Amino acid sequence: MKERFDSIIIGAGMGGMCAAARLTAAGQRVLVLEKSPYLGGRCSHRVKNECRVTTGAIMIPMTPTSAIREAFDLLDVPMNMIELTGRMRYRLQHGEYDQQQSGGGLRGVIKFALQDDEEQTTRLFQEFVFAMEHIPSDRNTFREWLEKRTGNDDVINLFQGFCAALMGTNLHEIPAGEFFRFLVNSSRGSRFGMVAKGNGELMEALAEAIQLRGSRILTRTSCREIVVEHGRASGVLAHSKDRGEETFAANDILSNTGPDRTVILSGGREKFDTNYLAKLDRFPHQAPIFHISFLTDAPLIEDFDGCLVFGNNKNLIYLEIPSLISPEISPSGRYLHTAFGAPTDATTKNLTAEFENTLHELELNFPGKLASAEFLVKAKHSGQSPGMHRWAGYMLPVSTSIKNLFNVGDGNAAPGTIGTEGAASSAKEAVKQILKRQP
Ligand SMILES: Cc1cc2nc3c(=O)[nH]c(=O)nc-3n(C[C@H](O)[C@H](O)[C@H](O)COP(=O)(O)OP(=O)(O)OC[C@H]3O[C@@H](n4cnc5c(N)ncnc54)[C@H](O)[C@@H]3O)c2cc1C
Repeated sequence: MKERFDSIIIGAGMGGMCAAARLTAAGQRVLVLEKSPYLGGRCSHRVKNECRVTTGAIMIPMTPTSAIREAFDLLDVPMNMIELTGRMRYRLQHGEYDQQQSGGGLRGVIKFALQDDEEQTTRLFQEFVFAMEHIPSDRNTFREWLEKRTGNDDVINLFQGFCAALMGTNLHEIPAGEFFRFLVNSSRGSRFGMVAKGNGELMEALAEAIQLRGSRILTRTSCREIVVEHGRASGVLAHSKDRGEETFAANDILSNTGPDRTVILSGGREKFDTNYLAKLDRFPHQAPIFHISFLTDAPLIEDFDGCLVFGNNKNLIYLEIPSLISPEISPSGRYLHTAFGAPTDATTKNLTAEFENTLHELELNFPGKLASAEFLVKAKHSGQSPGMHRWAGYMLPVSTSIKNLFNVGDGNAAPGTIGTEGAASSAKEAVKQILKRQP
């Protein structure tokens, strides 16, 4: 007989794990299937040359009201984080600006870009404050919104770096309203940090609590098919090397594999109604990202234990030196660096040239310092493992047109959220819809 669960979750990424935590906390018996040996998907780590190198995310929200933190708190799992709030540095052509820990971050950064012009700073800052209080339409892009208010290239380059590094897509790809929803969410008391011992440890801690409460997590187990009968999802067909094929039944199925993959696993487009397919097709782009991690014998920047956002490049957008933030990340005397780059247009098909330019810009920003660097990761994230499954502002709802089938992950983020927080927010919404239906 098929083993039965209340819910089955396909994929142990941030969205899948937060959904499992929430459903388990609500008293459900949940089964999580993860095809790889690891938990966390793009929020995990791999050990390379004795360093804990991220599989993707590096800045993780940790505000008590964040959807991530809520999921951990529900099972009393502490998040072993090193807080980085207020430790942002911005680099433009004319210099660098360290965000003031005492606050005033947005005004300060605008003033820096405008090279201390008080009058222009006040005027533009007031426009931002107004837009945060009266969210503008999504019909215009944030670039259009900004260019109506300033022609200053440094301001535009600053916000291009901000958008690409913190929102995963470029200035001209983000709807203006979504930019300001994100800005509202990520200001006013919001906190973020880096996981002290690597993202994988965070997910392992959550997994332990989930399983202690009676739910199950099977790694190295791939979902081959979502069983759909009479327009309703009722189970999954799974496969693992050890146990072969197995079928499991459940009241609800939550797919953390990305909206496109969910359609394939469910038997194809003909299983979904035209309204849902229209939403899926309306804006199907994923957001690629480049990841470069490397080791050096000396840090590229002395004493820098924060996050550097670049607004002086075409492709290089972000650098962190995890070894200077947490000593548990790399062996002593070796410095792990993680840099991100983005294509200037997220729809670019050929990423190679812009990836190579990201490496080139790293060298230009730190002349001569990379000569003896040992590269651990040089990755172009796209396809099934992108920066994000859908662009900020173009997310799909968590529900599908198949009854009892939900998507969770960064293709289904709540408005104003992206990345790990977006994935966790989708889990919150899907679980809310599931629990609302129950007596
Ligand atoms: C280089 C890079 C840098 C990033 N930086 C940040 C950052 O600093 N901050 C931030 O918040 N976000 C960041 N992101 C985005 C963030 O990592 C993702 O948005 C988030 O981790 C996605 O979570 P998810 O729930 O969509 O699941 P995913 O991470 O996509 O996980 C899905 C899981 O499902 C499994 N799976 C897939 N198919 C099957 C199947 N058929 N059967 C069983 N299992 C399956 C996969 O193996 C995987 O483990 C970054 C991403 C990248 C790539």
